[in-house]
Amino acid sequence: MITFEHTKTESSMNDKKRHFTDKITRRQALRYMGLGAAVIPAGIWLNGCSNAHKGGLSSIAPDINDVPTDRMTYTTLSRTGDRISLLGFGTMRYPTMEITTAEGPRTVIDKEKAEKLVDYAMAHGINYFDSAWMYHQGDSEIVTGELLKKYPRDRFYVATKLPGSVQSREDAIATYHRQMEKMQVSYFDYYHLHSLSSDEMYERIYKRWGMLDFLINEKKEGRIRNLGWSFHGDKELFDKVLDEPVEWDFVMIQMNYLDWKYGRVPAEYMYQKLAERNIPVMIMEPLLGSRLARVSRSVLEMMQEARPGETPARWAFRFAGSFPQVMVVLSGMTEIEHLQENIKTFSPLNPMTDNEREILAASADIIRTYKVIRCTDCKYCVPCPYGVDIPSVFLYHNKATYDSNIPDPEGARDAVFRRASKAYLAGYDRAIPQLEQANHCVNCGDCVPTCPQHIDIPGEMLRIDTMVQQLKSL
Ligand code: SF4
Ligand code: SF4
Repeated sequence: MITFEHTKTESSMNDKKRHFTDKITRRQALRYMGLGAAVIPAGIWLNGCSNAHKGGLSSIAPDINDVPTDRMTYTTLSRTGDRISLLGFGTMRYPTMEITTAEGPRTVIDKEKAEKLVDYAMAHGINYFDSAWMYHQGDSEIVTGELLKKYPRDRFYVATKLPGSVQSREDAIATYHRQMEKMQVSYFDYYHLHSLSSDEMYERIYKRWGMLDFLINEKKEGRIRNLGWSFHGDKELFDKVLDEPVEWDFVMIQMNYLDWKYGRVPAEYMYQKLAERNIPVMIMEPLLGSRLARVSRSVLEMMQEARPGETPARWAFRFAGSFPQVMVVLSGMTEIEHLQENIKTFSPLNPMTDNEREILAASADIIRTYKVIRCTDCKYCVPCPYGVDIPSVFLYHNKATYDSNIPDPEGARDAVFRRASKAYLAGYDRAIPQLEQANHCVNCGDCVPTCPQHIDIPGEMLRIDTMVQQLKSL
């Protein structure tokens, strides 16, 4: 049996006392729903377009001064003694830049900027780095390996994942060995069955092709120190994989205060199941891409009344990191300000109170009513063979929705409509080059199985393009 020991630093518990604020009851929290009457406390800067987290409505400026180097919160796993920073560095969102190749322009990782981020993370107590075969179209593992090479191997933990795109057992084994070369390691600290999302995929790769036995054997041989899985499937698949006669060392789930109750499989259900079995929990999407970094004014007001000056992102991270079974909370950090703010949140983590969870439960009830596409900008669906920039189309549409800039083609043709229509179309052309817009989707379906959020991508493309064409014709 796996035993699990989660030791937050003593200082985090002291901070809990120091930062304790007046209680807001659930009833008080609920009164904010649907109104904007409360006053933002003096000195709080409402930021309509934070560079920290794109999309959404309002946030406040994060405090990124005096980032501590020695106060990170760690979790210690009793089976291995691994002492892991509760904030993990997700390498899916390294900074990028455009280069020109013989085949045309290409977006690649900006290594210079990425190196600064990784070095800063290491210097401030982060020691967990999470990669995957498909991140940055294969480049994340290579760059992560290159950037960590200068550090002693026992100073960091690396994780990567077997992709669901492998075509055969031979391809899967070759991919696994190639990952070791790319990351320049002789063992993986944490290795995932990546993004389990359908029973067919699990049965085919891990049972019929025998990859589960292969990976268990790799663990016996010491080339995998911890074996687990990341999950995007339905409840039946979750229960089935959990019930396998395998000693799972960890499971990664999508957990945040919106998905706690409203996820496809509620995070609460998955977390409780894992806690019952004492399986360490890794968290992805604590901010749902960036959707929880900027919230509606009414949600922001509730947060500010309880904890003046605390950003929505920090609320979301504190929610994720406060559960005792959580071993690491992953964040993909593109800008140094993201990293600085997040390090401050976890140095040390100030655990969430029951009252604050009530506020977030009320916030989730509001946020779930936003009519947005559940895209987290993970980019698993790119490249589209027909050139559609799927995440950018969705991010633009979501931003317009958040900002109430979606004109209603069926609505009155008044001045407001004409202004909104013009603004939407101009912004659409600015945000997405014409050859990459929704009208280039031919409904080939290639992207559909890749989307961990199970979005009907061609359906949404048709919906957006129909609206765009209608607006253009008016
Ligand atoms: S369904 Fe549309 S968006 Fe998806 S891969 Fe095919 S053309 Fe691209
Ligand atoms: S559409 Fe799905 S796969 Fe593509 S970026 Fe969004 S969440 Fe990721």
